[in-house]
Amino acid sequence: MIGESSFRVLVFDLGRGQGKFIRFGDKTKLLGGSGLAAALFQEYGVADAPAFDPRQPLIFAIGPLTGCFPLMSKAVCAFKSPYHEQYTESHAGGRLPMAMRFAHIDGLVFVGRAERPSCVIAGIRRLEMHDVHALAGQDVFSTGKHLRRMFRRSTGHRSIVRIGPAGENLVPYACLNVDTYRHFGRLGAGAVAGSKNLKAFIINGESAFPAPATKTYAKLFQKVYSQVVDTDMMSKYHSLGTAGNVAVLNKIQSLPVRNLQMTVHPKVDGITGETFAKELLLRKTACAGCPVGCIHVGLLREMFASDNEYLYRQVSYDHEPIFACGAMLGMSDASGVLAILDECERQGLDVMSAGVALAWATEAFERGVIKESETIVPLRFDEVKGYCQAVRHLGARTNDFYRLLGQGTAVAAKHYGGADYACVLGQEMAGYATGEAFFVSQAMGFRHSHLDTGGYTLDQKTEGKPEIDKALAFFVDDERKRVTLTSMVSCLFARNVYSDAILQEALASMGLEDVAANLVSASEEVQRLRWQVRFSTGFDPASVRIPKRFSEVKTWKGPIDGAHMAAMQAAYADEIRKLGAAA
Ligand code: SF4
Repeated sequence: MIGESSFRVLVFDLGRGQGKFIRFGDKTKLLGGSGLAAALFQEYGVADAPAFDPRQPLIFAIGPLTGCFPLMSKAVCAFKSPYHEQYTESHAGGRLPMAMRFAHIDGLVFVGRAERPSCVIAGIRRLEMHDVHALAGQDVFSTGKHLRRMFRRSTGHRSIVRIGPAGENLVPYACLNVDTYRHFGRLGAGAVAGSKNLKAFIINGESAFPAPATKTYAKLFQKVYSQVVDTDMMSKYHSLGTAGNVAVLNKIQSLPVRNLQMTVHPKVDGITGETFAKELLLRKTACAGCPVGCIHVGLLREMFASDNEYLYRQVSYDHEPIFACGAMLGMSDASGVLAILDECERQGLDVMSAGVALAWATEAFERGVIKESETIVPLRFDEVKGYCQAVRHLGARTNDFYRLLGQGTAVAAKHYGGADYACVLGQEMAGYATGEAFFVSQAMGFRHSHLDTGGYTLDQKTEGKPEIDKALAFFVDDERKRVTLTSMVSCLFARNVYSDAILQEALASMGLEDVAANLVSASEEVQRLRWQVRFSTGFDPASVRIPKRFSEVKTWKGPIDGAHMAAMQAAYADEIRKLGAAA
């Protein structure tokens, strides 16, 4: 229960098909989410064993405010990544956090390996594992459809998390699909589930979870809710959504286009958020417990069977998928982008890594570095058909080329050549070519994510190049603030709403005064703990390379200063070493 000092964690052994609940950790020290997940990895992980070792845990964690305040709607998934063989986190919403809250599960740890493809069902009334080998090889959509039929819905919040062929085939950037339209996308949680024969799990949140009946809680909830829905703090996420960034970044010469050969898209009008909204937007939806609703769903209409028959599919989009499977692939047509996204979704692939990997493959194909005997289909910028087929090959790992490309762009580039133009910053880049600060922050960041720190904001707000000392102070402080949020576990879009002070008020209103009092120092400790766990699994900041393509970029500020970027990267590596040093 929320007022308790430790976490209620379900540890499920897939080898035995049995789980047990334990009490774990101290909320005042670990907070929840990111902190709880890192401590669980310390307890159950095997730092020097490979990611696919059955002993490795696949961890899910929510936070003390999950379901109690607006946008406290995310869960943390933590695991040893098969992409880089180091500890990492991925975040997602959907119905999972709320279902865990209503099942009284703060943390969930899968260990071991099931003998056959299996589905675990967990909740207050049920804790069981089912053989679902009939679903082996099924794509994400049909897996979801069959699971909904096989395991009928009971009352309350239910969440279905599953993998597609890419996860089963152990593609190191396979994702976990959460309900509909949400994902633990990056760095291969889906492949870890595949290695455990965990085709799916279902959380039944059937219990009661009464909110505190105090005036303080009700008043604070109303204050936060009003900020979220009645002010313009969050309105951009609902109106055009993050897809609105496509035109904005293009205008300031910061949109990665055609494998980052350009930062302005000559045909951007075909794929802007405005175009998606005007031509394809069908509806908007939200994670459970979020009044914002940033999830934009477009209608994809494709010819089917004969000239008079059409197939309609609903596909979600936002900035990152449009960047990766749109601008990076030179796409000039919003429907084409949706078609590629739909195929990634079906396979259960991270759209960002898949899109950026295919962008590298297209340039390599144009340069003659790889041939059609390898790609099977011709890869050309702005040609949707080839990309849809290539995504299927990536999911199926059809041949050596797709096997290597599925291991990451850098792995394929090392084998075939073309490392200079592999757009990898720790993993395939995110959709911002704003300057030195962003490139360094993604390359060195804990999750190699655009959400680790606001490096792209620093680039945009600074005239000229960000000074190194100021950039470092910003990276470390911004990461600490975000770690606080991902320990609660808030959607990071609400970062301007939830200051430390508001979070402390929120925790105190839930009866967690001790956690509130210790919030800032505990989040500093969690920031350190995550890095310590990462280092224990082999991370070396000196090993991170920023490929040449990133110093060839031109933004509205002019050319990137490669020497300045290298100095910033080296200085940030030193800061990270200090953070990761064991106490
Ligand atoms: S803003 Fe979007 S991603 Fe964040 S919780 Fe709401 S619906 Fe989910």
